[in-house]
Order: sequence, then structure tokens, then C-alpha cells
Amino acid sequence: MKPIVAIVGRPNVGKSTLFNKLAGKKVSIVKDTPGVTRDRIYAEAEWLNRTFSIVDTGGIEPKTHDTLLQYMRQQAQLAIETADFVIFVVDGKCGLTDADAEVGTMLRRSGKPVVVAVNKLDNMQDISPIYEFYELGLGDPLAISAEQGKGIGDLLDEVIRFFPDETEAEEEDEILRVAVIGKPNVGKSSLINTLLGEQRVIVSDIAGTTRDAIDTEVEFEGKTYIFIDTAGIRRQSKVKEEIERYSVIRAVSAVERCDVAIVMISAEEGITEQDAKIAGLAHDNGKGVVIAVNKWDAIEKDDKTMYRFLQEIESVLSYMPYAQKLFISAKTGQRVNKIFETVDLVASNHALRIPTGVLNDILYDAMAMNQPPSDKGKRLKIFYMTQVSVKPPTFVIFVNDQELMHYSYKRYLENKLREAYGFKGTPIRFIIRERS
Ligand code: GDP
Ligand code: GDP
Repeated sequence: MKPIVAIVGRPNVGKSTLFNKLAGKKVSIVKDTPGVTRDRIYAEAEWLNRTFSIVDTGGIEPKTHDTLLQYMRQQAQLAIETADFVIFVVDGKCGLTDADAEVGTMLRRSGKPVVVAVNKLDNMQDISPIYEFYELGLGDPLAISAEQGKGIGDLLDEVIRFFPDETEAEEEDEILRVAVIGKPNVGKSSLINTLLGEQRVIVSDIAGTTRDAIDTEVEFEGKTYIFIDTAGIRRQSKVKEEIERYSVIRAVSAVERCDVAIVMISAEEGITEQDAKIAGLAHDNGKGVVIAVNKWDAIEKDDKTMYRFLQEIESVLSYMPYAQKLFISAKTGQRVNKIFETVDLVASNHALRIPTGVLNDILYDAMAMNQPPSDKGKRLKIFYMTQVSVKPPTFVIFVNDQELMHYSYKRYLENKLREAYGFKGTPIRFIIRERS
């Protein structure tokens, strides 16, 4: 489970510039998924061998001062609820503003670890603009220039200082964690309520959850699951883009913490671009995925409806053909119990290990059937492959020349592996290494 770092601050202080700087090359992980995160809300970052997720809580700019304050409050609240750490970016060129002070107060009261980054100090010889930001009462402000990449190292040192020790964080238990994510109103809370209603077990929110996501223990046929719901507090935003952006940010923390993500979509609405963004989070994070088409009771159906839905889902989520699909009604309880069986299946595939011997049998057969590609007279040679980790299953393929390994051949090998082992519901990752 990676720590989540949120970036907050007024419009134009340099949040996205900082975000891009921190994400560096890693942001391509998100970008690679077609149609998913066109505007970058979320990326993985790394510093001193610690990986973490960064979330840019900024969004559409409000026009008037009143709405600015309201917008800042929402943004800060969101960061407090969903992140482990907050980078509060302020503008060193224009000094402390009312909106900064307001956000500062909220952050201070929340008790979340915060660092104030005074941006646009391109000339680090003179860092005097940082002093007035001591007034925020959030510790020592740091001088940075996001654009020129100055002061970023010190900032990241400060950020990771607050992360839990890795050994501590690695405490694992057997309980499956299932995130229920999706747009507002698709039925996430209804599903959790239905699951709870059926089991008559006293449920308590699990202690120590500081995030917005609400953990609920559910027992089914003697097995315990933790469902992570992201519904939380409903925000009264009127701007559609804003509501949607928030729902993605909310999903981030739930996805980070889960083994399997249930992406809920509404049968009434069909699958949308926004659903694809949310599903993309699970894919990018290498989590098991179940697509649950909810409100199945509410639509008129004939014998082709389900098929049409499947086709539509597969075309919008073409990058995740492995996702398992279910058609449910949280309201009537139809097929809701099937969720457990599906989650179990996906979780076991997500943790599946294939011995190197059989893996290479599959590889050699695949190569015999369809020769590796060549380029300018040079042919790709694949020596062998081995599985290096699970959750998701990750394979290293040793080759003579990395450049020769085309996307399409990788895809072909993935298909062969899936033909042999299924890996239903889980993404698979390949790492290509050169060896002479
Ligand atoms: P956001 O609205 O907070 O995401 O701000 P942006 O990242 O879009 O930046 C707003 C403006 O500030 C852009 O014109 C940036 O080029 C500029 N900017 C960002 N960081 C720096 C910096 O370190 N120094 C200077 N001089 N300008 C910066
Ligand atoms: P959330 O925002 O995703 O948590 O959605 P809610 O669980 O609050 O549900 C939003 C609305 O959809 C509520 O009015 C629910 O009663 C309704 N709803 C949820 N699940 C179903 C379902 O399976 N069938 C129908 N017909 N309505 C549903």
C-alpha cells in the first residue's frame, strides 16, 4: 500500500508544474492507458526508493473570490480525507493571501502532516519570501521552484520522513480487501448495505481508518472480506467536471488499499468515459478488477441486452479485456452473492505464481508458432522468462535487444499466457531485460 501525497493550493501557484516534476517519467504509466487520465490527476512518484502516489487536487478555476474560498475549502477537505501527507503550495511571488490562510487553518486543525512549499522562488539566493508563510503555523516553509526543479529534493525528504517504516507497512493478513469504486450514484453504498443486510453481523467501522474511505467487514460463508467504500460525504459541487474529478480522487485511496476493485457502473447510464477513468486507476495500480453493472433491475431487457453491454464494456475498456463482469442489482440483491465467488477467483489469479519450467514451455511453444519480430535484419531473441512477483503477476523476459520487443509481440505472449492460465480478472505485467 503506497502512501498518498496530495498537492493543494490556489489556482496558478504552480501545482500542476510541481505535479509533473514529481511524477517525472513515471507519469507515463497513467498516460499509457488510452482514454484514461487525460488530465493528470494521479501519478506514481519515487524518491530514495520509496514509491508513493501523488494527487493533484486542483481543477477547474473558480471565477469569483467567494467561489474561490469555497473551492479551496473543498479541495483542502478532500486532501485531508484522502491523503497521508499534504503539500501545500503557495506563491512566493505574490505572498500570503486570505485563501492561503483559510486553507492553512483547515490543514492545521486536521492534524495531517503538511509541508508548505513556497513556489516560484527561481532565485534561491534570496528565500526571504518564505518568512511570511510562518504565519500559517504549519512549520518551516520550504523554498522551491517547481519550474526549474529547485528545492524539490528537500521537499521530498520532508515528505517521506512521515511515511511509515516499510517493515511496518508490510504487515499482511489474509483478509481480502475489496474496493467498491465508481461514479456518484451508481449504487456503491447500496451494495455495501445489501451485503451487510444479508449477513446480520454487527459491523463496526474498523478503527484506525483515517481516510475518507470507509472499511466494512463482511462475512460470507465463513470467510471475512473488507469492503472499502468511497462514497463518503457527498459534496455539494454544481460543476460536473468537479464532481467527476473528486470521484476519481476519492477512488485513489481505496484502490491503493485493495486487492480487488469492483468498478460499479450503472445499467441505466451505460458505460461512460468517466467510468473508464475510474477503472483505469485499478488497471494502472495492477489490481484485480471486477466490473459490476448495477441497477440491472431498472432497465428493460431482452435476450441480447447482456451481450450488448459486454460488447460496449469491452470496447470502452479495451485495455482491460481481462476484467470480470457481473450484472447485479444492489436493490433487489440479484446476483449480489456472486460477488464473493468472483472476488475470490480474481484474488487467486492476482496472486498466482507459475513455475519457471512451465512458463518457458509456453514461451517456446509460442515462439515456434509465431516467430519473434525482426527489424533491419536483426531478429528479437528471447532467452527465457521468469515470474518475479505477484499482485499483479509480473514476469521478466530476457532478450537480446529491448528495442526489438514490440508491443504487439508482448501482447501475443500475454495472450498465450492467458490461454494457458487464464489470469481472469488480473492485469499481467512484463519487464523486458537485455542479456547478451
Ligand atoms: P496550478 O494552477 O496551481 O496548477 O499552476 P500551474 O502549474 O499551472 O502554474 C501556473 C503558472 O505559474 C504557470 O504559468 C507556470 O509556468 C508558473 N510557474 C509554476 N511554477 C513556477 C516556478 O517555479 N517559477 C516561476 N517563475 N513560475 C512558475
Ligand atoms: P453511490 O453514490 O454510488 O453510493 O450510490 P447509492 O448507493 O447512494 O445509490 C444511488 C441511487 O441509486 C439511490 O437512489 C439508490 O436507491 C439507487 N440504486 C442503487 N442500486 C440500485 C439498483 O440496483 N437498482 C435500482 N433500481 N436503483 C438502485
